[in-house]
Amino acid sequence: MPTFLPRDAFRSPRFAQPPTFVRLPYQVDLQGVDVGILGVPFDAGTSYRPGARLAPREIRSQSSIIRTYNRPLGVAPFERLRVVDAGDVDASPVNLEHAHAAIGARIAEFVSAGALPLAVGGDHSISLPILRELARATGPLGLVQFDSHIDTWDEDFGSKLFHGSPFYYAVTEGLVDPRRFVQVGIRGPMYGPGDFAFHEEHGITVIGIDEVHRLGVEAVVGRVRSVLGDAPVYVSFDIDAVDPAFAPGTGTPEVGGLTSYQALQLVRGLAGSRLAGCDVVEVSPPFDGPGHITSLLAANLVFELLSVIALGHAG
Ligand code: MN
Ligand code: MN
Repeated sequence: MPTFLPRDAFRSPRFAQPPTFVRLPYQVDLQGVDVGILGVPFDAGTSYRPGARLAPREIRSQSSIIRTYNRPLGVAPFERLRVVDAGDVDASPVNLEHAHAAIGARIAEFVSAGALPLAVGGDHSISLPILRELARATGPLGLVQFDSHIDTWDEDFGSKLFHGSPFYYAVTEGLVDPRRFVQVGIRGPMYGPGDFAFHEEHGITVIGIDEVHRLGVEAVVGRVRSVLGDAPVYVSFDIDAVDPAFAPGTGTPEVGGLTSYQALQLVRGLAGSRLAGCDVVEVSPPFDGPGHITSLLAANLVFELLSVIALGHAG
C-alpha cells in the first residue's frame, strides 16, 4: 500500500535522506496520484542570466522544512490529496524543441493518469508545453500569471521558443482564453508604448505593480478572481514577480516588486478556484542570496499552491 504522506519529521530529521519535494515519496508512476510535483530542470530558454536548471534540486532541499498544515487556509493538503514527488523531466539542456517535447510527453502521462501537474522549473518557456497538453484535454484554460514581465513576445534571436514567449503562443494557439487571462506584478523598463498592443488586441488583463501597491492584495485578489471566473485555471508563478530584495535568485530581476508575504497572500487568494495545473518558475540558485531565500520562498509557494488545490479538490 503506497503512502502519500511526507516523511514523519519526528522520526526522520528534516535534513536526513535524499531530498524530495516537501519530503514526499518519490514516485514516477502516477497511478492513483492526485498531484505530482514535477521538476523541470531546464533553462535553455533563458535570455539573460541562466541557472534555473538547478532550481528543482535546490527547491527540494529547501522544502525540507515545510510542515503539513496550512493555518491561514485551514487545510492539511496531504490529508486531502495523494501527492508525490514525480521526479524530473529529463529535458535536453541544449535543444529547446527536444526539451519541450519531453516536457509535453511527461505532462501527457499526468493527463492520462488524471493527476494534476505542479511543475517546478526551469525557465518560463516550460509553461507552453504544459499548457498544450492540459488544453488538449480540457479546452482553453483561464490563466493567472504572476510575473514582472509580460512574456507575450513572439520570438527572440530568431527562436520562437524562449522564456519571453510562452503566453504569446498560449493565446495564439488557443490554449488559454485571453478574456480569462490576467497578469499580476508587471513592471520595469519596457521597450515602448506598443508593448501592450497584443494585450489590447486579445483582451488580456494586466494588473501592474503600481496597482498592487496602491489597491492592496485583497482588492487585487478580487479583480483576479473576477477575470478568471469558475472554469479551470492554470497558475504560473514566475518568482521574479517578487522583489529581488526577497527573491534575488532569478534570471531577470526587476526592482520594486511584491514582498514574499504579498506573494503568499496572492496565491492564498486563489482558494476556491479550480486549478488544472500550475508552475513555479525562474528560480536561479547560483544568483540566490544568503540562506537560499529564493528557493525557500519557492518551496513555500509550492505548499500554498498545494493547499489551494486541496481546497478545490472534490475528494
Ligand atoms: Mn516570466
Ligand atoms: Mn519574469
